[in-house]
Amino acid sequence: MQTTLAPFILGTREGKEAERILRACVHCGFCNATCPTYQLLGNELDGPRGRIYLIKQMLEGEPVTERTVLHLDRCLTCRACETTCPSGVAYGRLAEIGRQVAEERVGRSWLDRLRRWILRRVFPSVALTRAALHVARAVRVLLPESLREKIPSAPAPAGPAPSDVTTGTPVLLLTGCVQDAAAPATNAAAARLLGFLGLKAMLTDGCCGAISHHLSAHEEALRQIRRNVDAWWPHVESGAEAIVSTASGCGAVLKDYGHLLAHDPVYRERAQRISELVKDVSEVVPAEDLASLPRPSSSGRITFHPPCSLQHGQRLSGRVEHLLAAAGWTLSPFEDPHLCCGSAGTYSILQPKLADQLLDEKLRALETTTPDVIATANIGCQLHLGRRASVPVRHWIELVAEQVPD
Ligand code: SF4
Ligand code: SF4
Repeated sequence: MQTTLAPFILGTREGKEAERILRACVHCGFCNATCPTYQLLGNELDGPRGRIYLIKQMLEGEPVTERTVLHLDRCLTCRACETTCPSGVAYGRLAEIGRQVAEERVGRSWLDRLRRWILRRVFPSVALTRAALHVARAVRVLLPESLREKIPSAPAPAGPAPSDVTTGTPVLLLTGCVQDAAAPATNAAAARLLGFLGLKAMLTDGCCGAISHHLSAHEEALRQIRRNVDAWWPHVESGAEAIVSTASGCGAVLKDYGHLLAHDPVYRERAQRISELVKDVSEVVPAEDLASLPRPSSSGRITFHPPCSLQHGQRLSGRVEHLLAAAGWTLSPFEDPHLCCGSAGTYSILQPKLADQLLDEKLRALETTTPDVIATANIGCQLHLGRRASVPVRHWIELVAEQVPD
């Protein structure tokens, strides 16, 4: 695609990157076929090709309006379009640049800014998320049904303390923020399974920076990322062989640290090294080791919902399904697994109507397979699906860890 960037962005780091991405797009529209918002709304401007065009116009200096912000806000950043695109267009990165420029040019209402500020303050803090969930559960009966169903139930006990694992090849296990507060059993299960596999999980907490990053607070996200690099670097120097994430949404951002800090001469090398060490937990679990586990205690019928951050963000399609099958689970395929469930970070809070429509569509597809349990690999999907699912929704690692003998 021919581009003529406006002086305000021409030659800047973002401008050069956006120009390279825009020029790769041949405007074929294949990506519209797998875009959840295009499927729902049928509007060209709510599909990737239309959004790319809106961003192009904006970067070329055309007027930007609230409609531009609206169509960019409706994008889930699920990156299904990247997986589909035959030209390798890095849509996700372009959307980040486009959103930032649109926000700077158009602005947001004070209410929208306040909402986003609260999300950026609460979710990255385990203590604040835990406190917010506690208060929400306490006043649940007083809330309207539409809000009540959004509050997750109290989490299952975390199980054996991960610090019990003291031997093995050292790896860092990122416990995260929302997951640590809403589903602590996932990290405990991961540490237990990693211990069984001969890996010693050293726990490290804190937000990966994804929440600020996806809400266009890029400097704030970079400060968080630099803090993480500083905190994790001593572990890297003393021989941690991997930085393991059990939330695929965090993993996708962690793998991008090198890119996000490529312009920072102080941090770029360490950030790049950390990105190289980051692994989704499914990447450090060998299938052959799971074949020796006792078989699942239930009938073992499972349907796995692959989060977008796993299949499109990290390009790890099929890996968890392979591991679950090796551990003895019977997997049921379902319709349109490439489509987002509507969780998408803070999307389910900021765009509740579209998120709920996507949720209902996803659960219809998943539950047609009559599973005993729905498994997934990201806390956001787990909580979002769990709101309306008729069977338990759990992280796959918890299911497999339960098979590990005491
Ligand atoms: S992003 Fe890719 S699939 Fe979509 S219009 Fe451009 S080239 Fe075609
Ligand atoms: S990231 Fe997802 S919602 Fe956004 S344009 Fe691409 S496919 Fe559509």
